[in-house]
Amino acid sequence: MKKVETTNKHKGSLYCSIFGHNFQVSKKVTYHVKEYNCCNCKKQMTTNGNGYLTELTDKFKEINAVLERIHKNKMKRFAKNKEAFSNLKMTS
Ligand SMILES: [Zn+2]
Repeated sequence: MKKVETTNKHKGSLYCSIFGHNFQVSKKVTYHVKEYNCCNCKKQMTTNGNGYLTELTDKFKEINAVLERIHKNKMKRFAKNKEAFSNLKMTS
């Protein structure tokens, strides 16, 4: 009787526990906050307010969603300001 039960998930986390996670950026929230995904075990991490990596819990997902919205709004406003500023420069 053969019983081979090695799921990729298990293999991945074993690999990670020996060699460490292989994180790749899965999402850019702001310039400083990014979400990471381990390509071996699919563990999700994020940058917290102190710039350290922390596990991406539901709480952090919520925070990141808010940060992302604020960041996008800022970018929109910044683009508008820049346009107004260059117009001002040309006329003066
Ligand atoms: Zn991993």
